[in-house]
Amino acid sequence: MAVMDIVIYPDAPLNEVAAPVVRFDDDLRQLAADMLETMHANAGVGLAAPQVGVSKQLLVLCEPEGEPLCLVNPEIVEMDGKAHEEEGCLSLPELFAPVSRATRIRVRAQDAQGDTVDFEAHGFLARVIQHEYDHLQGKVFIDRLDALTRTSALDEWAEIRAQIDAGTLAAD
Ligand code: ZN
Repeated sequence: MAVMDIVIYPDAPLNEVAAPVVRFDDDLRQLAADMLETMHANAGVGLAAPQVGVSKQLLVLCEPEGEPLCLVNPEIVEMDGKAHEEEGCLSLPELFAPVSRATRIRVRAQDAQGDTVDFEAHGFLARVIQHEYDHLQGKVFIDRLDALTRTSALDEWAEIRAQIDAGTLAAD
């Protein structure tokens, strides 16, 4: 198990559509385990493979008090409802903005063994899955904001990123 480095926006491959996983082997399961460790080390609730520099359709998440979940090649096949709540992202530390998301989704994916999983998620879990799913499509949460809010978020981010690059912000 190893803690991996988090890719900071807008570095590659965050802006790329991730490749489908075709091989369900020990390397994939090791990557999922390392991603979970990295997520916990950074006090995150979800992490997508592009955030650790791997452009593959794989995400992990763990609700507070919940069981860790690993989703491979996920698809969101149904969406209902709408809620506007603040989100952040380990790839955009210190930046937060309210994002509109569906409140109920149905997900079809594979697990780390390659078996099909199909389930409904609500509320916070549905939000985390939608956020991480976006990463696999090359999107981050600020791409979901309206144009004006996104512009001001990008301005704010430019300052944060400059501090990260200068080493004056602890990007934990
Ligand atoms: Zn994120």
